[in-house]
Amino acid sequence: MPWGHFLIAVIPYISYSLIRHRKMPNGPILLVLLFGTQFPDLVDKPLAWQFDVLINGRIFMHSLVFAVPLSVAILLLAWIYDRRTIGGTFVFGYLLHIPGDFYTAFIRSGLHIPNNMLWPLFSPSPISKPEFVTQPGLLTFTGWDIVAVGIGTVLIGYTFITTINSARKYSTSLRII
Ligand SMILES: [Zn+2]
Repeated sequence: MPWGHFLIAVIPYISYSLIRHRKMPNGPILLVLLFGTQFPDLVDKPLAWQFDVLINGRIFMHSLVFAVPLSVAILLLAWIYDRRTIGGTFVFGYLLHIPGDFYTAFIRSGLHIPNNMLWPLFSPSPISKPEFVTQPGLLTFTGWDIVAVGIGTVLIGYTFITTINSARKYSTSLRII
């Protein structure tokens, strides 16, 4: 779920920033982290659920076969163009999304890497759509989901507010120049 992916990444990210730099990360960089944590779902789920291009909403960008070279390419570009924090933050969020989706399958299968994580080298799980997509009434929330939604909403709110503030400060400084 989106909030869960963001939380798994944002909590260590903020902790690191507080310990290392003694301040909260700024809004724009948290926005990059938010985008990274949602990126595989933003690509795969529409391709599977909406356009029927993929047979599963957790294969293409969820597969290490694509995720690893793409991450390396992004880090390389970020290094070349001196945008290491942006590139590193995106890749951190992106790569944390993958174990976030597959850790239960990994544990349940006796610590075998799920086929989806290695698609197209291995055939993916045939489940194309989760039950709440085919039968909308089935979407249920656990206690953890509600806590995650609460904390995630606060942090996403913080991200957007600080991003807007940064944009305002930036436009003011441009006017002064
Ligand atoms: Zn996912």
